[in-house]
Amino acid sequence: MPLYEFLCRDCNQEQEQLVRADETPVCESCGSQRLMKLLSVPAAHASAEQRRAAPNQPCGGHCQCFPQ
Ligand SMILES: [Zn+2]
Repeated sequence: MPLYEFLCRDCNQEQEQLVRADETPVCESCGSQRLMKLLSVPAAHASAEQRRAAPNQPCGGHCQCFPQ
């Protein structure tokens, strides 16, 4: 179950919530369903993880120089 960071459009409360695919997240502060998903933090984290996992990958995997 993925953990996402949301910003409430009604009370501007930032919060992390576990969200199932068929569920609408609700603000834990004011109960609003007008939550905006924040993508910047998870994306930056994943990118740092990928750099650590494959430090010698020269070109991002789009050519033949990465060993098979
Ligand atoms: Zn709220």
